[in-house]
Amino acid sequence: MIYIITGPSGVGKNTIINELSNHLDFYFSVSHTTRPRRENEVNGKDYYFITEEEFENLIKNDQMIEYEQYGDFYYGTSKEELSNNSSIIILDLEVNGATKLLEENNNFKGIFIDIDDYELINRLKNRGHDADFIKKRMKLANLQREKKELYQYNVDNEDIKTSVRSEEHTSELQSPCNLVCR
Ligand code: 5GP
Repeated sequence: MIYIITGPSGVGKNTIINELSNHLDFYFSVSHTTRPRRENEVNGKDYYFITEEEFENLIKNDQMIEYEQYGDFYYGTSKEELSNNSSIIILDLEVNGATKLLEENNNFKGIFIDIDDYELINRLKNRGHDADFIKKRMKLANLQREKKELYQYNVDNEDIKTSVRSEEHTSELQSPCNLVCR
């Protein structure tokens, strides 16, 4: 089963996926991006960091199942990533790409993560963003929330301890939804 996790920037998608990895066996779909690698990131694990020319070649050769421009960079999922044998594959995508992919594949499951505005503004501030950037991201977040209804699961990530219910960790767990979805 393929699960697409999405939500406005800053809601904690990464934290949820990291926490899920403590309780569940799954393959994390590694995206391609033209964004420069951050210091703590590993090529091939967090992303495949490639040039714009390489990204355009992947598109030209029909190797991408979806891609989007987000901020100044391209992000996309290759068809090869989704051909992994794992019974659970998890994707972390921004809302446009996630929604398109979900609409095109009705056997995929969509999980939309969100938090309230006050908390989202605080998290963006803590990431060191300025007021102007935060204003733009909040405007975008409100547009992204319009897609929420299209997702099978909506998760409020107010507190990671309650978002991912570790007490329900059992070997029979079949789905990330047992952990994150109400
Ligand atoms: P960041 O630069 O912070 O790692 O990611 C920026 C945004 O790009 C995040 O919202 C993340 O979910 C999204 N993203 C990462 N990989 C992909 C991808 O393959 N396709 C799409 N559409 N979005 C992605």
